[in-house]
Amino acid sequence: MLFTIHSLAAIAATVILPRLASAAPTLVRNDSACRALPGDADWPQEEEWETLNRTVGGRLIRGVPLAEPSCYSTNVSATSEACGTVQREWESMAPFIADPVNVIAPYEQNNTCSPFLAANATATCKLGNMATYAINVSDAASAAAGVKFTHRHNLRLVVKNTGHDFLGRSSGRGALALWTHHLKDKTVVDYCSSLYTGPALRLGAGVQVRELSVFAGANGLRAVGGSCPTVGAASGLTQGGGHGPLSSAYGLGADNTLEFDVVTMDGQHRTVSPEQDADLYWALSGGGAGNWAVVLSVTVRAYRDGPIAAARFSFSREQVTPQVYWNAVEAWMKYVATLNAIPGFRSMVRVDRSGFSLDMATLPNASVGDMQTALAPFHNTLARLNISLSLNETALHPSYLAHSLITEAFRSIVDGSSAGDPLFVVMSNNVSHINHDNAVNPAWRSSLFLINMVLMSSEQAPWPKLQADLAEMNSWQDRLRLVTPGGGSYGSEATFDNQYWKSEYYGSVYYRLLQIKQRYDPGFVLWNQAAVGSDLYRLRDDGRLCTA
Ligand SMILES: Cc1cc2nc3c(=O)[nH]c(=O)nc-3n(C[C@H](O)[C@H](O)[C@H](O)COP(=O)(O)OP(=O)(O)OC[C@H]3O[C@@H](n4cnc5c(N)ncnc54)[C@H](O)[C@@H]3O)c2cc1C
Repeated sequence: MLFTIHSLAAIAATVILPRLASAAPTLVRNDSACRALPGDADWPQEEEWETLNRTVGGRLIRGVPLAEPSCYSTNVSATSEACGTVQREWESMAPFIADPVNVIAPYEQNNTCSPFLAANATATCKLGNMATYAINVSDAASAAAGVKFTHRHNLRLVVKNTGHDFLGRSSGRGALALWTHHLKDKTVVDYCSSLYTGPALRLGAGVQVRELSVFAGANGLRAVGGSCPTVGAASGLTQGGGHGPLSSAYGLGADNTLEFDVVTMDGQHRTVSPEQDADLYWALSGGGAGNWAVVLSVTVRAYRDGPIAAARFSFSREQVTPQVYWNAVEAWMKYVATLNAIPGFRSMVRVDRSGFSLDMATLPNASVGDMQTALAPFHNTLARLNISLSLNETALHPSYLAHSLITEAFRSIVDGSSAGDPLFVVMSNNVSHINHDNAVNPAWRSSLFLINMVLMSSEQAPWPKLQADLAEMNSWQDRLRLVTPGGGSYGSEATFDNQYWKSEYYGSVYYRLLQIKQRYDPGFVLWNQAAVGSDLYRLRDDGRLCTA
């Protein structure tokens, strides 16, 4: 059938839900079915934290709300230049990426220390849902020390890398965070195994997408990463699936893993691969982020670099009637099936109130002529509809790095101008030809599109407005679900409260993953929202994680 939409992915870019008002810490005896929180009688004593700090070579860091030093401390004013800087940088993500505990997801922040509210006389600043302590992980020993400490003291453990996670999976109230952001080693490897022989890259868990592209490019190689330059290439992205401009050519990030260097929840340092702890390797390759082990590094396939044919075009909505505009959008959606048949072709399209924009089409190892031929039938359709293009460019980029840097620049311009409007990003999806067994949601293999729904909100929006935004986002998802039977969602760009999360984020691999979880982490030392097995536990209203 030409036009079968099998994919549904909801992106909760700024989906916000109030949760966990800060409770005043009173000394309570913790119910052992629950993880300890600060203020509990069994919360570790200061000396015990100090011992942990010595064990990890002074790398233990106390969590501080991001806005506290500049906006809430004594001797600082909410109207100071320093607090203004925090406000300006809040949206850029950079301060969150560089911080050991603070994460980007607004509902996880829950306005517990908002720089925008600091001038309000009743405003308070608390850590809220952010981890209480973090270990700046430098090696297996420091990660293992953290795992053992949480076991011993019945604490919640989370792994934080860049803090990008939409579902808030890299934070947790009262948690000890293992912060892997500074594991930046990158090595080119001549890999040889029963699975694969050829060039590969060994990437420390903290390597981000841009760093991966730059390093690979400098070595005449390319590898699958995401579209966003700051996402962690070797951690959350790969464990959750990982789509990017090269996914149609080489599969998802998870399809390209060869081995992981990890610390498991028994404190063991292991190298896992299809030959060693094969089931854990399988789960780490697409089975959901932050639920299996602490990843120190991953080794991924790399490919010889070469030219990339690129294209972008856009047309405004106002030049034709709404009916004609939507006919054009529909024509594109149908045409994606044709484009998906071209090996390596990937496109990313935005549809919003102002119009339609092909942000970038990617065709590796092809010419400008190949790209023009691929797009010509759709351009002919637009001509028949009397739609003229406001932008129409094709180019040959000499390498994947050049291609991704140009895409990145263009994307930041588009992002900067779309705030406030609902936005649908439609990516052609053609990863089915990658025949590699792993824990990736099988819906990836049979889908025509990946649709990201984005709703930007103001940081100063009151909770009722943010809740309304979340409700609206979920209602869009409900409507798309009805027309995509048998589809799924990308669990790393999703809402945390989707009642169909098991089937939509994991599909048929869910129960195999659950068995692996029970084998490698039977005590659920790692727990996060909408993760495999997470319904065996629940977050109480005071933020306490307990058995369900
Ligand atoms: C602006 C933006 C753009 C995005 N673009 C893309 C894209 O193009 N393609 C795509 O596929 N996804 C994309 N995503 C989604 C992204 O893949 C997920 O948010 C991913 O979980 C981020 O991983 P991280 O390690 O960077 O972030 P974190 O928030 O630090 O971690 C995310 C999850 O991974 C776990 N984790 C992190 N490090 C480790 C580790 N060392 N060991 C074990 N677990 C770990 C955490 O515990 C958490 O569960 C985007 C997200 C954002 C916010």
